[in-house]
Amino acid sequence: MREHFEIRDHDAAGRIGELTVPRAGVTVETPALLPVINPNIETIDPGRLRSEFGADMLITNSYIIRTTDDVRERALEEGLHELLGFDGAIMTDSGSFQLAEYGEIDTTTTEILEFQRDIGSDVGTPVDIPTPPDASREQAESDLEVTRQALADAEAVDTGDMLVNAPVQGSTYPDLRERAGREAAATDLDVFPVGAVVPMMNSYRYDDMVDAVAAAKRGLAEDCPVHLFGAGHPMMFALAVALGCDLFDSAAYALMARDGRYLTVSGTEQLEDLDYLPCSCPICHTHTPEQLRAAGDDDRESLLAEHNLHVTFEELRRVKQAIRDGDLLELVEKRARGHPAMADGYRALLEHADQLERIDSASKGTFFSVSHESARRPEVRRHHDRLARLSVPDRLLCTEYGTPSDHDYDAVWRVVPPFGPFPRALSETYPLTAEVPDRTDAAAERAAAEGIRALVEAAPDTDLTLAHDGWGADALAAVPDSVTLEDLAADGHRDRDAVASADAEDGSESE
Ligand SMILES: [Zn+2]
Repeated sequence: MREHFEIRDHDAAGRIGELTVPRAGVTVETPALLPVINPNIETIDPGRLRSEFGADMLITNSYIIRTTDDVRERALEEGLHELLGFDGAIMTDSGSFQLAEYGEIDTTTTEILEFQRDIGSDVGTPVDIPTPPDASREQAESDLEVTRQALADAEAVDTGDMLVNAPVQGSTYPDLRERAGREAAATDLDVFPVGAVVPMMNSYRYDDMVDAVAAAKRGLAEDCPVHLFGAGHPMMFALAVALGCDLFDSAAYALMARDGRYLTVSGTEQLEDLDYLPCSCPICHTHTPEQLRAAGDDDRESLLAEHNLHVTFEELRRVKQAIRDGDLLELVEKRARGHPAMADGYRALLEHADQLERIDSASKGTFFSVSHESARRPEVRRHHDRLARLSVPDRLLCTEYGTPSDHDYDAVWRVVPPFGPFPRALSETYPLTAEVPDRTDAAAERAAAEGIRALVEAAPDTDLTLAHDGWGADALAAVPDSVTLEDLAADGHRDRDAVASADAEDGSESE
């Protein structure tokens, strides 16, 4: 067990946790966002980050501090907290980014970790190699070997109470990411950044980001706090948290402000283009776009940075509330509508439904079926697995509504796309309390048909009739041939009030 990280609540693979940072004497609730502070350029006074924005932790770069003479001397004399004027927890990066950018840096894991310890960092970082996406496999493997050695060197350093990051690399190779995750989890290091995802996010490859994180998570243990390194755009928080990321860091709030860019939960706007400010943060509440544009460069940059941070922390609170309410995947689905690349990210997440299903709570808020992607959520798969454990009567009618013919049945079960069939006894249990649209889409019908097939496979001797509301050919093709079909739409039985009479008859279950 990693004693410094406790998980309090769950939804999908997302969690609310508590990261205890002993050197700072601070407990950070996760998911958490660490604003990035450049020790040479302070866009917002770090002292305000905790009181005004609620940041319990920030991140700064120890390599920049070490290579800037006057800052280094002050950091060694006064300590990092005094230097930055921040009383929360401080994580430091090592210069790996500079290594990736410039090809070499003038330090080693041992030196930079000792330096981080000496300036009073609360979470230090070794010098790993952030292998970019699409690197050759040979490069990814040899970089990974260097990173593995860096973790071993880090374990040997006397870091005292300072927690230490164990970065997980592996480029766009899922098997390497998984292996790197497993090796990192086997060390006695503390926090697990998934590295080199920034180039993916900068080019809107959210599906590749999802695959890289899902692979790293397969290797990491459940109790490993995971940092999505370099991820700070609020539009992807819900997606990344649903995958099981706990920490984020944002340089975006400041970098984007410098370029006149205004963050929202569904993307980035240019201040130039805005006639209105779609936000109620203290900045947007008291300024018009004209006033922001008319402000001097420095003022405009810090006002935009403040808005960017407000909207970022607001989204993080929304994500946490969604975990508490058990509707995180509904929030992911909403954000997926903001940008086609986010839709790709959500679809990639659903490719890992099995992985999510193993962790996801069995019971939570009402399932909202709001798109064809809802049919691929882990809850639908879990229901299909559950069908195999139900006791099934010999002659069974599964119907969307009503009893279509005079046939004798032992029981009548409901059919609700995308879940498929279930006995009345389960109708008040999650996820079958779902809110589903009346105008069912093809993906939901298809998923319901797969539920029928799962039932037939579990009870091959049952004489099963399916009464469906005009399902399409694709869904009907997925229903086994042994099932008798009744088309309620064609038969003129379209009477949704008849659901009640179908519900009145019960099925039995043996879970
Ligand atoms: Zn605002």
